[in-house]
Amino acid sequence: MDTPILLPCPWCGAPAAVEVYCPPSPYEPAPTEYFINCSHEGAGCPANLVFVGPCLTLAEAARRWNTRAPPAASR
Ligand SMILES: [Zn+2]
Repeated sequence: MDTPILLPCPWCGAPAAVEVYCPPSPYEPAPTEYFINCSHEGAGCPANLVFVGPCLTLAEAARRWNTRAPPAASR
């Protein structure tokens, strides 16, 4: 799968980080879930609390990340 272009974190400008979660279910096939978070974890960036996901495709997660509203507190 092609990796979509991800905008930097709208809060701190750090690169976006993609997390892929494959549910460890040997009995029922569960969909892989994609999350996008700020790579600046643990440094107080509010994006860590408003990550995107879960999404069933990386493209959908990327679209939601790239079109998210800018932080309201920055004005
Ligand atoms: Zn950030």
